[in-house]
Amino acid sequence: MKVFVMTDLEGPCQVNRWEQTRVSELTPAKQFAMTMLTAEVNAAVDGVLDVDPAATVVVWDGHGSGGIDNAQFHPQAWLLAHGRGIRAPYTLDESYDAQIFIGQHAMAGTPNAPLCHTYSSKTVEYYQINGQRLGEFGCRAYLAGAYGVPTVFLAGDDQASAEARALVPEIVTVDTKVGLGIELALHRPVAQVRSEIRAAVALAVRRRHDIAPAVLAGPYTMESRVLPDCSVDGYLGRNPAVKRLDERTVEWTVEHLSELWI
Ligand SMILES: [Zn+2]
Repeated sequence: MKVFVMTDLEGPCQVNRWEQTRVSELTPAKQFAMTMLTAEVNAAVDGVLDVDPAATVVVWDGHGSGGIDNAQFHPQAWLLAHGRGIRAPYTLDESYDAQIFIGQHAMAGTPNAPLCHTYSSKTVEYYQINGQRLGEFGCRAYLAGAYGVPTVFLAGDDQASAEARALVPEIVTVDTKVGLGIELALHRPVAQVRSEIRAAVALAVRRRHDIAPAVLAGPYTMESRVLPDCSVDGYLGRNPAVKRLDERTVEWTVEHLSELWI
């Protein structure tokens, strides 16, 4: 079995402040968040290995400034480490049997969802593909689905879990915390969260044949709106096909999801 693990730094237990995730330097607050994420990732890897000790588990450190503590990282998993120049599809292809999410947050604008955002917490108001409003979970679940890979598990705050179940009703989820605000959460007991992740990931990968890949038919029209006082010039400079719809909104169309920078 081969499993792709998507990771982010905003969703683990006991992470609920931007100062824990937004900084690029390794502050004590960020190091703590990385420790929490890495422990949840390691629990997920153990869950896969409980089902298939010979499994290949590939973990992508998907947080912009890096979220995995390499020194604490599971010694039996592969690591697509934080680096420069990473692009979709992040080594995803048809060889994978399942995708799982650890440390996920909800899409920008979700009420009571700690650290919710869509790709850039500083610039993006929303992403919409073929008329469907999507967060990072939705974009990457569809990206994996384009390679026939089902998304079977998510660990994150309760709003991230709800967002996942809305798109993939059969997905197995573990809530790490209850969201109370953009920088506020009631965190579940750490030991309980980690043991639940291990057991639930095992259950989810066993069910992989019963969970359909999330598939969106192409071509794909992306509409992106930036936050007030942010510029769309970055989009216009990246691709000549990008059209400006208004001061804050752009749109462009591609044939494959991997071309959408998601
Ligand atoms: Zn994110």
